[in-house]
Amino acid sequence: MAKIYNIAVIKGDGIGSEIVDEALKVLDATSVKHGFELNYNFYLMGGAAIDVFGEPLPSETLNGALSSDAVLFGAIGGPKWDNLPRDKRPESGLLKLRKGLGAYANLRPAMIFDELVDASTLKPQVLQDVDFIVVRELTGGIYFGQPREKRDDSAFNTMVYSKFEIERIAKVAFDTAMLRKKQVCLVDKANVLETSQLWREVVNEVAQNYPEVKVDFMYVDNAAMQIVRNPRQFDVILTENLFGDILSDEASMVCGSIGLLPSASIGGKVGIYEPIHGSAPDIAGQGIANPIATILSAAMLLRYSLCEKEAANSIENAVKMALAEGYRTKDIADFGAKEICTTSEMGGIIAKFIGKQ
Ligand code: NAD
Repeated sequence: MAKIYNIAVIKGDGIGSEIVDEALKVLDATSVKHGFELNYNFYLMGGAAIDVFGEPLPSETLNGALSSDAVLFGAIGGPKWDNLPRDKRPESGLLKLRKGLGAYANLRPAMIFDELVDASTLKPQVLQDVDFIVVRELTGGIYFGQPREKRDDSAFNTMVYSKFEIERIAKVAFDTAMLRKKQVCLVDKANVLETSQLWREVVNEVAQNYPEVKVDFMYVDNAAMQIVRNPRQFDVILTENLFGDILSDEASMVCGSIGLLPSASIGGKVGIYEPIHGSAPDIAGQGIANPIATILSAAMLLRYSLCEKEAANSIENAVKMALAEGYRTKDIADFGAKEICTTSEMGGIIAKFIGKQ
């Protein structure tokens, strides 16, 4: 009998529903080809949930996510909800979902598509063979540390990490490296921060269990420079929450369009898979959003949460085939387009290429 997986689908706000619909189209084609079934359960989060339930993460959504095999998520946020207090804003729904699912490891691959090499602001020769992944700690550090307070004439936040939190994310980074080029670079600020000094100690301890993996350490200011100077030197970049937030966005620009890159938040009970971009309210409803980042997030979902590796490969190959044939959404139209497609057409073309492999 075919395996059946339950997927919690959260479309969110802005372009969320447009891009998630295309990922579902591609997942459907993939499940037919690879002989498994996907049950989708749809939930609200972010602004859409605020409008209906008055809060960005209703308990129904959290419970639905917790009882699923994986979460496919679009994006949240928009000007309509910008003036709400911080813990009532759409973004706080996502932070709470990650925390609620215990998803402490954020994986963001930085990949180059040969056909889109000109979409990057970097020179093609700098981009050759670039293939690295940022493993960012997601549920600790300064975004969550207590105490925190905003006063009239001062404000403070706390960066705090326990040994346990560092150990578990370090293991994710080393396991990831074992499947790749076997290099981990810990990015920190150990010349200034005590938390970074603890990170170095713990990472060195975890490294003892991975003798094949080469470990380097780099200060975050240098890493920010090296990612644009010579990105080819990296395999797995391991870093804490705040540094990872910034560096993974920088890494995405190495690759060109924000509409192309997927992410996975894993390590807890259930993984969350989402594009790296936001809800793009400026283009919502126009049918021009690029669905590829969400479609590649669906591939990560198959690989990391469902262990359907062949199916994940099919999606990644189908994306490459669509790009190689010159299909482009508007955001990447200047780079080798033979045919400009809408969001929905791009999803359909990628789904068709699943069947052609
Ligand atoms: P954004 O990523 O939504 O958009 C930045 C720019 O990239 C815009 O010009 C947009 O049109 C373009 N873009 C983004 N995704 C695209 C796609 N798939 N195809 C084509 N073009 C695309 O970032 P922003 O404008 O800073 O934020 C908009 C809203 O999204 C805000 O409310 C923000 O808080 C929210 N946001 C949400 C998430 C998330 O849900 N994980 C992440 C970042 C921002």
